[in-house]
Amino acid sequence: MAKIFCIANQKGGVGKTTTAVNLAAGLAKVGQRVLLVDLDPQGNATMGAGIDKRELTLSVYDVLLESASVAEAATPSPKAGFQVLGANRELAGAEVELVELPQREKRLKQALAAVAADYDFVLVDCPPSLSMLTLNGLCAAHGVIVPMQCEYFALEGLTDLVNTIKQVHANLNPDLKIIGLLRVMFDPRITLQLQVSEQLKAHFGDKVFNTVIPRNVRLAEAPSYGLPGVVFDPSAKGSQAFVEFARELVARAPTL
Ligand code: ADP
Ligand code: MG
Repeated sequence: MAKIFCIANQKGGVGKTTTAVNLAAGLAKVGQRVLLVDLDPQGNATMGAGIDKRELTLSVYDVLLESASVAEAATPSPKAGFQVLGANRELAGAEVELVELPQREKRLKQALAAVAADYDFVLVDCPPSLSMLTLNGLCAAHGVIVPMQCEYFALEGLTDLVNTIKQVHANLNPDLKIIGLLRVMFDPRITLQLQVSEQLKAHFGDKVFNTVIPRNVRLAEAPSYGLPGVVFDPSAKGSQAFVEFARELVARAPTL
């Protein structure tokens, strides 16, 4: 049965999509069956996985509105060894359309139930807001992976996210929990980052993943080639870190 994890953080530009795409590629590389779900109308995860969002015939939008199943709408990432349930701007309309529908927060959960046996991991790339789309992700998931930069306001932003997760846990999805915090874009030469990293460990203990993702330009370049960094340049430090993170997650999965 697939473990379903949301990659979420209410801040934009913190590395959610980079984490979702490269973790998907890393998990595929270590032999896991992976579905990447793009829940952001920007479609960055879709493009980063090598699928042109403008050419999608079926997307996560159709799945949320129940005009297609996940199996029908998923397409393989051409070079990265995982499946993608893609998104494009059409998805922005779902926000409004879902409000009218029954079980509006649980549509993704219901759709994913049909493919749970086909995958080891389902990763959901969330948009940077607490929208109906993000709620669908959080309702479908067993847990949340939170990418974060070790900056001054990082802990403050985390309080909002933790409160959101508590509310969803209490009202909609009793399974939901924080799987872990992933330190991303890390630069050990910056003293403040080392300090915040220590604060995180002091606050959250073993909820902080051991793997640290360094700031690495190869990870930022890869999407323009339609490839995850892990595939674009496997020897880059950032790529190696994501494969290491995939291994850490696989090792932890039985206890999650
Ligand atoms: P989000 O999905 O949270 O908005 P992204 O994953 O799109 O964030 O990342 C924001 C920007 O930072 C992108 O330009 C991305 O290429 C870059 N980026 C993300 N992670 C790294 C990293 N480890 N090293 C260098 N650049 C990164
Ligand atoms: Mg994103």
